[in-house]
Amino acid sequence: MTNLFINGRWTASRTGREFDVLNPYDQSLVAKVADAGPDDAAEAIASARRAFDQTDWAYAPSRVRAGVLLRTADLLARDKEEIARIETLDTGKTLLDSRVDIDDVIAVFRYYAELANKDPSRVVDTGRPDVISRVVHEPVGVCALITPWNYPLLQAAWKVAPALAAGNAIILKPSEVTPLTTIRLVELLAEAGAPDGVVNLLLGTGQAVGAPLVESSQVDMVSFTGGLATGRWIMQAASGNVKNIALELGGKNPNIVFADADFETAVDYALTAVFVHAGQVCSAGARLIVEDSIHDAFVAEVARRAELIRLGDGMKEGTESGPLVSAAHRERVESYVELGLSEGARLLAGGRRPSDPELQAGFFYRPTVFTDCRRDMRIVQEEVFGPVLTTERFRTEEEAVALGNDTDYGLAGAVWTSDAGRAERVANRLRHGTVWINDYHPYLPQAEWGGFKQSGIGRELGPRGLDEYREAKHIYRNIAPSPQRYFAG
Ligand code: NAD
Repeated sequence: MTNLFINGRWTASRTGREFDVLNPYDQSLVAKVADAGPDDAAEAIASARRAFDQTDWAYAPSRVRAGVLLRTADLLARDKEEIARIETLDTGKTLLDSRVDIDDVIAVFRYYAELANKDPSRVVDTGRPDVISRVVHEPVGVCALITPWNYPLLQAAWKVAPALAAGNAIILKPSEVTPLTTIRLVELLAEAGAPDGVVNLLLGTGQAVGAPLVESSQVDMVSFTGGLATGRWIMQAASGNVKNIALELGGKNPNIVFADADFETAVDYALTAVFVHAGQVCSAGARLIVEDSIHDAFVAEVARRAELIRLGDGMKEGTESGPLVSAAHRERVESYVELGLSEGARLLAGGRRPSDPELQAGFFYRPTVFTDCRRDMRIVQEEVFGPVLTTERFRTEEEAVALGNDTDYGLAGAVWTSDAGRAERVANRLRHGTVWINDYHPYLPQAEWGGFKQSGIGRELGPRGLDEYREAKHIYRNIAPSPQRYFAG
């Protein structure tokens, strides 16, 4: 099994172990991949270290780095359909969603290629003719990029493209649950001319290969997307050599609907907000907050339409939602539904596995809608990461904002209203990294993405997404030095 990529070569893991990658639709075996260990991690770190410290990659002209990114974008476009199919087999998401992901990934590579070509240094006005002062940007060094299972290729791209644009050497560690498109991405980066050792790939569990990356004194930065508990651990474990860290964690995202919103459109988006990719989306609008006067009718319509969502094989035309990613994850979602019931929430839709015979081999769960929810319930506060919607009601704008902010997270949220003034007021006051007005889910390569509060540290995408991977250096040059005589003797 030679699918680790270290120092420009595909190599086998020193552990000799491998693990199965299953299709969540029917549990069929999609692939076997290397299951690496700490020795492999040490080799990958040494490889990246050499590439960063002993080659000219970090100081290569920006057009060289941009060239690698642009060629990668072209290769992704060339292989789009094949990669989309792999993503669907690996994650269970619909082919339509996988294609959208890859279009986004291509756009992100192109965006950072363009940014890599823009010179970010600046001259500082010192007010002295004998001093030249400038601020330049340099890569951070060796970056460990650790990604989750829900948007494997997309999350990898949001890190890889800016990290390489800035001139870093990287070690990529995808989730052990869905590693396949990341392997493909590394093949394409090599084909696009990434120099040996600049891009390294480790496959394996968080414990076996993720933790050694985070703890290593030879790694300068960890950029992590994943769960809150892992993020907290990483913050502590990365402190040994005071690494740079960037964390993209979970969310419990409010979707606030005022009575003056267009009813049908807001219902429609409320469904996609939470049920796309079976709710396994960090920014899922899993917390629906509706104005009292329309609450009952609105929630009833959402529940009616949730019951109509067609579950099935992501590879098949007409499937609207695939399965959950694994048996363990479905059990976690089920335990949350039981918790919601025990807390007094009332089921309006779902709350069960589907009964269709063809879905029995997969990890399916019916889209679920809870009503009679209160803000202090755990089902309202904690990230379920599945197709589970809670609903709450409000009477005033103040109350809507207070509910929307009543969460330890702060990743994303939305407000629906036809009153432009109110839309702006609410958007300004929501403490979340992204706020949509009369929309849900779109993001742009040019616009920062990330979390307030416990949703994370730092930003991906946009100019700030590149800054995460750069150090600023002030160079101060005295062009006419002479003795100062500060000390008289
Ligand atoms: P996870 O935290 O279990 O794992 C994420 C990655 O970290 C995996 O590659 C895993 O192997 C690795 N890992 C686990 N333990 C580690 C350790 N001790 N040291 C180093 N690496 C370790 O998360 P998950 O279940 O794969 O993903 C779901 C979570 O990701 C959800 O909470 C979701 O909200 C979050 N997420 C956030 C964003 C965002 O943009 N904010 C995007 C997607 C997913």
